Amino acid sequence: MGHLISIASGKGGTGKTTTTANLSIALGKLGKKVLAIDADLTMANLSLVMGIDDAETTIHDVLAGEASISDAIYQTSFENVDLIPAAIDWEHVKKADPRKLPGTIKPLKGYYDFLIIDCPAGLQMDAMNAMLSGEEVILITNPEISCITDTMKVGIVLKKAGLAVLGFVLNRYGRSENDIPPEAAEEVMEVPLLVVVPEDPKVREATLEGVPVVEYDPDSEGAKAFMKLAEEVLKIA
Ligand code: ADP
Ligand code: MG
Repeated sequence: MGHLISIASGKGGTGKTTTTANLSIALGKLGKKVLAIDADLTMANLSLVMGIDDAETTIHDVLAGEASISDAIYQTSFENVDLIPAAIDWEHVKKADPRKLPGTIKPLKGYYDFLIIDCPAGLQMDAMNAMLSGEEVILITNPEISCITDTMKVGIVLKKAGLAVLGFVLNRYGRSENDIPPEAAEEVMEVPLLVVVPEDPKVREATLEGVPVVEYDPDSEGAKAFMKLAEEVLKIA
């Protein structure tokens, strides 16, 4: 059976989509069969980040009862990685029922080694339905105190809901001299620090190209950090 891992955080813009894409591709490179799922139904962009912009059937069609899940699974150009994209237009968003997410995603567990779920930020209904589609969670935070405490809250709620919190990623470290250092962040979060991903212009450059950094520039610091995250995940998941 595969691992269903939600990628979550308390705030938007922390790097959830970036982590979902890079962790998926990194695990694929390590020989695992991976499904990356865009469950951020209102702010979807995972497929763009992964270079797919013409998907006809999306998770929204499935959640609207208008397509079956197998029609929404696409092979990517990355080794061993499939993707379920989401739609971006309001017509699709309006029709999709987020409460159907867990029942739609969980049955796919038997077909992959890892299923990585890109979730919305926070604890609203959309985010909860996406996050509870997973059985394990990786939290993503930036090195700022409000971001760390909000993300910690999400971790506490998910743990209470029965998810295994694997740990957290400290992303975009080194952007400001006021950054909370990794040891202090780990103390506040009270879950293991899996990896520190530095602020790296290559990460954003890669995003713009539709080729995540682990593939775009494997020697960059950002890529090395996401590869290390994949190796950690293989050890603990
Ligand atoms: P979220 O999905 O949590 O809203 P994203 O993954 O979309 O966040 O990231 C937000 C922005 O930050 C994107 O432009 C992305 O390229 C950039 N970004 C993420 N991680 C890094 C990093 N380590 N270094 C530089 N830019 C980053
Ligand atoms: Mg996102």
